[in-house]
Amino acid sequence: MNITIARKVLDTIKEYNRIIIFRHFRPDGDAVGSTKGLQRILQLSFPEKEIVLQNCDFSDYLSFLGGEEPLYSEDFYKDALGIVIDTATAKRVSNQNFSLCNKIIKIDHHIDVEAYGDINWVEDERCSSCELITAFYNAMSDELKIDKEAATYLYTGLVTDSGRFRFREVSGETMRLAGLLLDQGIDTDILYANLYMKDFEEFKFQGYVLNNIKITANGVAYIHIDKSTMENFGLTLEQASACVSYMDSIKNSLIWIAFIDTDKEDEIRVRLRSRFVTVNSIAEKYEGGGHACASGATVHNKEQMNALLDEADKLLGEYKKANIGWL
Ligand code: AMP
Repeated sequence: MNITIARKVLDTIKEYNRIIIFRHFRPDGDAVGSTKGLQRILQLSFPEKEIVLQNCDFSDYLSFLGGEEPLYSEDFYKDALGIVIDTATAKRVSNQNFSLCNKIIKIDHHIDVEAYGDINWVEDERCSSCELITAFYNAMSDELKIDKEAATYLYTGLVTDSGRFRFREVSGETMRLAGLLLDQGIDTDILYANLYMKDFEEFKFQGYVLNNIKITANGVAYIHIDKSTMENFGLTLEQASACVSYMDSIKNSLIWIAFIDTDKEDEIRVRLRSRFVTVNSIAEKYEGGGHACASGATVHNKEQMNALLDEADKLLGEYKKANIGWL
């Protein structure tokens, strides 16, 4: 861990009475877990400080982790330290008022494409921002406090962003830090029940997805979920978007992609996943980005969807020709 910057971050936190924590829109377990986890650690460690979350959109599926503060007026931000976690670019911050803060710290584990903070702390080898926040606590544990609640938030991101500790970024350090959090007494039965139990409708939707996956010549698995399908199954955009994970273990399909219609007429959310092959270069061409094997993007019509699929298919074909050992 970069201890120099960790020290600088803690010293900066100590300088401010008001700290506002932000994350990216369409939050996932890591975004919610890391922001709520840091908030709780700072509240326990510095009870005299005001430490709030200020975000503009929320996740139903993560609502079991509890709420956030209501939005305050612009004046509230002026003297505050803003800490933005798990967000690669300024454009993706859920609450654009973050830029009104007196000073901004970026803490992230995505590929470092934009240093929008006054202090920028990015460790992209970490499998989650929650891991980075846990490492921060661990390095500064003489000055910081943690409890079961904070540990539960952070463990949520460790589990979800690592695909339950399966992804290649999982290291010995990930497991040691997970152990530190478990030692706080997290109720993993309750946590996993909240994270992984599905409504019956979602199971029926899963059946529909499995029956409708298409596969390109070189093995890219994909599906397009349009608005009427979402309505038929009574799903939110967030629930429908989960379909990308239903395609994650088809032999020969080293890239899998879900296209999901959004509420905007000309906007289709793209979720790209892969094993062995790097897909973020494709995402970057379509208003997106992310990690080597898990990226997001946006397309606006069927032509762009097909062009993106062609590029993915070509990339996979080239990968298969040049490499051995993949399944
Ligand atoms: P998603 O499929 O939306 O869960 O995205 C997969 C990963 O890529 C997550 O870590 C996202 O934070 C990241 N990501 C998604 N969309 C973008 C984007 N437009 N720019 C940068 N990173 C993104």
